[in-house]
Amino acid sequence: MDIIYPFIWAFGLCLGSFAGMSINRYQRIYAGEKINIISPSSHCPHCKKSLKPMMLIPIFSYIYLKGKCYFCKKEINKSYFITELIFLAVTVTLIFFETSILNILVLLLIFCFLYILLITDYNHFFLPIELNLTLLFFSICSAALNIHTNITHALFGAFFGYTVLYVINFIYKKFRAIDGIGFGDFILLASLGALYGVYSIPFILFFGSLFSLVIYLFKEKNKENYVPFGSGLILGAFLIFFLIEIELLRFI
Ligand SMILES: [Zn+2]
Repeated sequence: MDIIYPFIWAFGLCLGSFAGMSINRYQRIYAGEKINIISPSSHCPHCKKSLKPMMLIPIFSYIYLKGKCYFCKKEINKSYFITELIFLAVTVTLIFFETSILNILVLLLIFCFLYILLITDYNHFFLPIELNLTLLFFSICSAALNIHTNITHALFGAFFGYTVLYVINFIYKKFRAIDGIGFGDFILLASLGALYGVYSIPFILFFGSLFSLVIYLFKEKNKENYVPFGSGLILGAFLIFFLIEIELLRFI
């Protein structure tokens, strides 16, 4: 496969742009703005003018417009540019590790939804159901392509991923009378179980808990003392991806 196959680069950049926009919109939705993920179309937060197609890809607008709005010349939030750079790095990594174009595209889609969920859970302690279910769908697609597991292991993985956290939360609730783990985390672990197969679940939980602890220690404390467990699970899943690719872990 030609590693400079331009379609994959373009796809990665478009997903980066979509992720940056989605994270920004969830932030505004939680702040009480009456918008949704699709409308209104992307616009400058200062002058409210709609962005031209080329400006939707932050890397180009940063290079050509030096990080400023084309219309009002006010500075654009750097987080879009950073998100885009991360997606570029992930695209390069996937091209390096994977040989099939279809595998790369599916894994890029999975990364995109994991990334939005990671940031949204970190900022708001919430995993939007529409993102979570889309991720589950793409995880099952990846198993259908036999990327990291097969479809049987994936379906068991989804079932046990959901059930493990459901049962832990059920027991916790018996003693403390409140939920200890959010419903979104059940679906997230179901997706990760589908992505890597049923045997990966103890590893995801182990690494996920370690990363959650690290986040808890370093993140500014909130008054409810919540921990973004979903973000921890996703960081654990990224680590597992590397361990599989460098052949230190195998679940099938
Ligand atoms: Zn502007």
